[in-house]
Amino acid sequence: MTTPLLHLLLRCSTAFAFLASCGTAAAAPAEQGTHRGPFDLLIFAPHPDDEVLGCAGVIQQALEAKKTVGVVVLTNGDGYPKAASILTGTPQDQLTPADFLALAAERQRHSVEGFRILGLPLANLTFLGYPDSLLAKLHESDNAAPLRQPFTGKDTTYSIIGQDYHSAAHGSPAPITRAALLADLTEILQKAAPKEIYVTHELDEHADHRAAFGFVRAAAQAAGFRAPLHTFIVHGTRQPDLPVVRVPLTPDQVEKKRVAIKAHQIPIVHDTLPEHARSEELFFLAPLADDRYRSPSDSGPSAGRAPKG
Ligand SMILES: [Zn+2]
Repeated sequence: MTTPLLHLLLRCSTAFAFLASCGTAAAAPAEQGTHRGPFDLLIFAPHPDDEVLGCAGVIQQALEAKKTVGVVVLTNGDGYPKAASILTGTPQDQLTPADFLALAAERQRHSVEGFRILGLPLANLTFLGYPDSLLAKLHESDNAAPLRQPFTGKDTTYSIIGQDYHSAAHGSPAPITRAALLADLTEILQKAAPKEIYVTHELDEHADHRAAFGFVRAAAQAAGFRAPLHTFIVHGTRQPDLPVVRVPLTPDQVEKKRVAIKAHQIPIVHDTLPEHARSEELFFLAPLADDRYRSPSDSGPSAGRAPKG
């Protein structure tokens, strides 16, 4: 595709996303996000792509075993200036909210495509629409007032594709507060009644990934979930001192994971993503109760091979 044409299309995409943000939701598969459970496995992804980076093998094996899998994406991946710049062709110092909303649309579309590749029903894909890059601040906030994401300007949840969870479930978006995200997660867990929960671990180097663990653990406790959380690390090599579950993948499963990951690639910023398609997936079982959680030390024993990310 020629560069001018690419830029024209991307500009159209940006305008489309802006229109979507004004209330005309982008066309979505009618069934997307309509199934709330019950699920055998429920996977929480801080951003669109973490579900395949961490769990594409587990997802494939669950489907082959006729198990049900739901995925909840906490943010729209809309807080990444370099990616927004590359996607829309706009210099980083000239980015506007429309560019970040175009990025959100693109990253949500990636998750939809990943679902198709893995053979997951789109009804099982839920977008919460909380702000990328603000989950840690939200986790530590005092709830006094909604936070506003600087990139999109949003202070409520939103989705470009279809509806965000809170709008679909309650008729209006949620404010960007700690309590609202915890309430959404708890409600989702109660409806989904999963047998296994998967989420990024608090030793992940990405602050959103660490915060996602804190949110999901608190929501799981509130929802009365009993089993340990299956946690995974996308970014970094530190590993918790926790029981390890190794999930070997067949060559076909590795290849399908690689294809699903490639569906999430934005050139330059995501060039190394396919390296996450390895011959096994690694999970750490994190107890829910704080007093049973063994905090790892930097020099403590390592439990298995570290993912690169
Ligand atoms: Zn992520």
